[in-house]
Amino acid sequence: MSCPHCHDTGWRTIARDDASRVERCVCWRQSVAQTMLATAKIPPRYRTCDLESFVTYENERLLRAVARARRFIDAFPVVDKGLLLIGPPGIGKTHIAVAVLRQVVLEKGVRGLYYDTRHLLSTIRSTYNPVTRTSEVDILRPVMDAELLVLDDLGAERPTDWVEETMNLIVNTRYNDRRPTIFTSNYEDTPDPEELDSLLVRVGFRMYSRLREMCEFLEYSGPDYRGFEFTPSSEELSSAWKTQPRRRLPVRTSVRARAQLKRGKADLGWTGGKAGG
Ligand SMILES: [Zn+2]
Repeated sequence: MSCPHCHDTGWRTIARDDASRVERCVCWRQSVAQTMLATAKIPPRYRTCDLESFVTYENERLLRAVARARRFIDAFPVVDKGLLLIGPPGIGKTHIAVAVLRQVVLEKGVRGLYYDTRHLLSTIRSTYNPVTRTSEVDILRPVMDAELLVLDDLGAERPTDWVEETMNLIVNTRYNDRRPTIFTSNYEDTPDPEELDSLLVRVGFRMYSRLREMCEFLEYSGPDYRGFEFTPSSEELSSAWKTQPRRRLPVRTSVRARAQLKRGKADLGWTGGKAGG
């Protein structure tokens, strides 16, 4: 389809009284934004997420998280901190994170990237080559360099030293380069080293204190959006929330994993693709 403004040249002439000049056509900007979006690796099910389509209801902490996400989009790239969305599964954390990523990419034309944390780590493991250092170039570099990165489901990976090492490398590099990151996590922010299902224990102390410095923590709860047959209305969510206001995070660290965590970690150091399996 031919563009009526520029006849597909990507440039259009702006006529003035004395002279005329050319500038990039709006169609060119849109196609650049679409290309940027295609390289952001957003999973198909989240490809249409935006904040406008996200159904909210009377839930103070949720509304605060959404308002904060909106401010982040407006202010980008002038943002001091990234965001960390914490809460039980199914409350729209990924929706909010991806909505911010999509809108920042489309509106500001930045290089954005989405990764599920477990998927990222398994990709690094499977492509790691100690001789050519393939994963460092092909996988890690874009993750470290993305102008905005979403790391979904932080802490889901079994915490081994290799996982901690790799995550610290990514997060510290981004922190030092002042590149913001948006995380989501199902693990509660209880700074109690005895609580094995806490974010602190799942990601390790170094990573946790770095997260504190580089992110605004947005913790909220609510009913599971996936528990409804169709997209729930604001009223349905509101009444579900009122009858179940104290939804707790599920206990997920198995007895065996707990024993391992207590014993200390077996895997040591960066051993490339073989560790942490
Ligand atoms: Zn055009």
